[in-house]
Amino acid sequence: MPEGHVIHRLASQLTEAFGGREVEVSSPQGRFAAEAAQLDGTVLRSAEAWGKHLFIDFSPAASTADGAPADAAAPVGSGTRLPRSVVHIHLGLIGKFNLSPFAEPVGQVRLRIGDADETVAADLHGPQWCRLLSVPEKEAEIAKQGADPLRADADPSATFAKVARSRRAIGALLMDQKLFAGVGNIYRAETLFRLGVSPFTPGRDVPAPVLKAIWADLVELMAVGVDRGRIDTVRPEHTPEAMHRAPRKDDHGGEVYVYRRAGQPCLVCGTPVEQRVMDGRNLFWCPSCQPDRR
Ligand SMILES: [Zn+2]
Repeated sequence: MPEGHVIHRLASQLTEAFGGREVEVSSPQGRFAAEAAQLDGTVLRSAEAWGKHLFIDFSPAASTADGAPADAAAPVGSGTRLPRSVVHIHLGLIGKFNLSPFAEPVGQVRLRIGDADETVAADLHGPQWCRLLSVPEKEAEIAKQGADPLRADADPSATFAKVARSRRAIGALLMDQKLFAGVGNIYRAETLFRLGVSPFTPGRDVPAPVLKAIWADLVELMAVGVDRGRIDTVRPEHTPEAMHRAPRKDDHGGEVYVYRRAGQPCLVCGTPVEQRVMDGRNLFWCPSCQPDRR
């Protein structure tokens, strides 16, 4: 499943390609055809991500009485009277949303957004969700999400308070989207390794400064993920070049400490990395660098 950095990157790409412009919207596969017809010819205002959720805002391409174009880029709450619609997308396990030079749709495309000049198209395949929401419905969805380390407006204080009261393992808490929106299996494993925290530590036993450090590390690591389009978590002294080792071979790409490295030596201490299922997902950690002090 894509982690939050993929969705934030996608939101930026969509805004850059289509923001403030009239767009052609269709559902080549047909399953989103009625909604796409409503959106076709409207203005894509912007796209934004909250955790693993993508929201794309549209407003009618209405003209004013004198023929001048309406201010499509008017910010939220600026008093614009244009009704707005939001497409809410969650990619789930297999969904993909890619921008590419305009071409005939390939495979089952639920949603296509293209520019009027037919130079670029964004095609959505196999999402868990693709649905049309009103602005209040979008706000209700966002209210269900936890703090997102990639959002400039993130406020983790409620998340910190919940973790500090929880008996659940920090490894599980980090995967809870109502607490840490956008964090997935790779970032949870890697940040716990980087901070030397056992994933089995109950939330309430994680010292407040350590919890703050976990948050700060997620902010830093996930921003690198948005920049590079892949997850790199190793410090400069542990890169393949610095360690004179072969680069990692994995379809996730990226240089990591423990994720999907079960049985291989820890890059810091040489102890074999361990793996166990926690809440249905594979967890990876180094038992020496992340001692279990329960
Ligand atoms: Zn180690």
